[in-house]
Amino acid sequence: MKEASQSGSRVRVAVQTPAHSGISEPLTYITPNPLAAGTLVRVPLGQREVLGVVWGGAAAEPEGAALRAVSAVLEGLPPLSEGWRDLVEFAARYYQRAVGEVALAGLPPQLRELGADQLARRLARKPRAVPDAAVDGDTARLPTPEQAAVLAELRSGDAGAFLLHGSTGSGKTEVYLQAVAELLEADPEAQALVMVPEINLTPQLEARFIARFAPIYGAGAVVSMHSGMTNPQRLGSWLAAHLGRARIVLGTRMAIFASLPKLALIVVDEEHDPSYKQQEGARYSARDLAVWRGRREGAKVLLGSATPSLESWWGSRPPSDGDAGGRYRRLAMPSRVGAGDLPTVRLVDMTLQPPRTRLSAALVDAIAQRVARGEQSMLLLNRRGYAPVLACGDCGWKSECPHCSAYRVFHKIDRSLRCHHCGFAERVPRACPACGNLDIAPVGRGTERLEEELAELLVGVQRPDSEGGGPVRIARIDADSTRHEGALAQQLAQVHDGTVDVLVGTQMIAKGHDFRRITLVAAINPDGALFSSDFRAPERLFSLLMQSGGRAGRDSAWLAAQGSRAEMWIQSFHPQHPLFAALRRHDYPAFAEQQLEERRGASLPPFAFQALLRADARTQEAAQAFLTAASAAVDDLPEAAAVQRYPAVPLAIQRVANVERAQMLVESESRVALQRLLAQWHPRLHALRRGPEGQGIIRWLVDVDPQAI
Ligand code: ADP
Ligand code: ZN
Ligand code: ZN
Repeated sequence: MKEASQSGSRVRVAVQTPAHSGISEPLTYITPNPLAAGTLVRVPLGQREVLGVVWGGAAAEPEGAALRAVSAVLEGLPPLSEGWRDLVEFAARYYQRAVGEVALAGLPPQLRELGADQLARRLARKPRAVPDAAVDGDTARLPTPEQAAVLAELRSGDAGAFLLHGSTGSGKTEVYLQAVAELLEADPEAQALVMVPEINLTPQLEARFIARFAPIYGAGAVVSMHSGMTNPQRLGSWLAAHLGRARIVLGTRMAIFASLPKLALIVVDEEHDPSYKQQEGARYSARDLAVWRGRREGAKVLLGSATPSLESWWGSRPPSDGDAGGRYRRLAMPSRVGAGDLPTVRLVDMTLQPPRTRLSAALVDAIAQRVARGEQSMLLLNRRGYAPVLACGDCGWKSECPHCSAYRVFHKIDRSLRCHHCGFAERVPRACPACGNLDIAPVGRGTERLEEELAELLVGVQRPDSEGGGPVRIARIDADSTRHEGALAQQLAQVHDGTVDVLVGTQMIAKGHDFRRITLVAAINPDGALFSSDFRAPERLFSLLMQSGGRAGRDSAWLAAQGSRAEMWIQSFHPQHPLFAALRRHDYPAFAEQQLEERRGASLPPFAFQALLRADARTQEAAQAFLTAASAAVDDLPEAAAVQRYPAVPLAIQRVANVERAQMLVESESRVALQRLLAQWHPRLHALRRGPEGQGIIRWLVDVDPQAI
């Protein structure tokens, strides 16, 4: 590599600088030939040579500064578009991160490693031809009147964002498919981005898109982007999208940064799902960025959900007296396709049950009847493992994690105590470590124990002869049972094949699956969320219950032939709670109205905007002292009056892996004021970190529009 000669033109290049360096802008290099903005290059950084993106704008370095030269240009790749660079700049500014970090995180990891000639070879390689015969074709269904109305609205409307509020089973996926189909047909270059919260949980969606579009546009027209893919696969998808060969990109939140030069439509399925918020690095919301990107690119954005986020619901309110209404257009599909009714909601009043009842007799009976008819049931519990703690009845010892302020969970299957926060695991002790008592016992219920109890309660229940007879088959799906690769897909396949009668699991089974033979869904103990300190907990619970209820009775013809009906059971100590009343009527709008009322009264989002400043340190005092000093450091700003800064507090789980964590909530009714304050805070925080208040601080971060407080 040649040492930098000072002749040539200057370019700004976005590179990934270390987070603690405090550098948030692209760096300046020199180049013998001018380079177009968006060009991918390799440049020296410290002792290394790294991937960078040529950025627009004037170089800031003073004349005469010693500049290093661009080492290589990745030929053969068209530059990243201005729209893409704008998206990166916006995301970096809004979420308070460096432009280079966001830009590089938005590119496939393998691109960083490839030299210029390796890339040239990769580009010369022909895309792998997938024989079209390998694809089971699928043709468009005739839209229902509701679907047709939604598609017509989408077609007639200008670019902009739409919120599709459609019941579970109303055929939202079919709307996405047909909207994409119309777009690709109308414009031979147009591209669509379809995002789902967790692509690993929805292989069905991928299959449906491939079945629908591969026969028309070839198998390479649909590509995926998610973290479950290998680096070569991700590079392949990225190149296909960037070069315009892929017409449809399906992906998780990371796909929002895909390079799509002809982007014309973005679909965000299950737009309310918290998984759209990235929880490390740049803590972006892929849903919110989708709306921004759509506006920037003149593309339509379709947000879909049966239980929209309250932000999107409020953002799509119709105009009324003195209110211009929201910026999104609201579309509705209230009916289920095939007239399958939404499940009947049954509330079990747990205060009327015998003490210590976990599964009410009525519920067990309802499950048994379904097993006997060859139908499936699904039970939800929000805690995996066998029991949340192991305790000593003599001295009061509990299975605390030595590294976290949390209990380790008892897993009977391998007789371990496992911390769900830091992962620390040990074999269960024979006797109480504190007093030697041999009689230590599990307290509370997790999915593992529920599975065991249910098996005991259903002993003797037989499947019908038409289904081969035999005892009930129970399966459990949670983070433990799906640890091995392919395990989840295999377990889901069993549910689809009907080789499972009762499915027990955490909320990971509630999302999106199109199970055909489930007729009963039960929430075993959902009360915790009713009185949570997190103001979003009721919204999450309502959506979880609606979504999981939506798994029941999805095949109305089969249901009718069975002479059965779909039911959603809820066991609660607070059956009178208004949340359940709305759920019983499947009335999301009523629930949303009540919640928005509360949020308005308490000045919470969407009526206020929030950010969290978090500090991790060796001691809680150090973490809080840093936050307190940080707050004082912006007292002089004019925006400070419009932005409320709350006192520093420990996180709910205060200590994880021996790190103490504290946070400070920052809130304003003006998003602009909040953003201005955050922008000026950033350099001051870096300075603070280097000074005496930074002593003992391990890291700090800003989370804009946090999902949990
Ligand atoms: P959602 O995504 O809203 O929960 P889906 O798109 O999965 O609903 O549709 C539910 C079921 O209805 C699916 O099995 C789907 O194939 C079927 N379906 C959707 N639209 C139609 C239609 N227009 N005609 C026939 N069946 C349809
Ligand atoms: Zn003891
Ligand atoms: Zn731990």
